[in-house]
Amino acid sequence: MAAIVACPTCAAEVEWSPANPFRPFCSERCKLIDLGAWADERYRVPVKDEPDPGSGNPPT
Ligand SMILES: [Zn+2]
Repeated sequence: MAAIVACPTCAAEVEWSPANPFRPFCSERCKLIDLGAWADERYRVPVKDEPDPGSGNPPT
């Protein structure tokens, strides 16, 4: 008897079985969406101390 899990992307019920290569996702599409969101998160992290042009004194 296969377990049923919720797809992390769309929350659809997914059968957790060797027959589903995308588990715990319901489809390849949901898997790619989740991976994309993850990469997005990583790229966003280092962007925080950007110099703000127009405020404060110029560097030179
Ligand atoms: Zn899904």
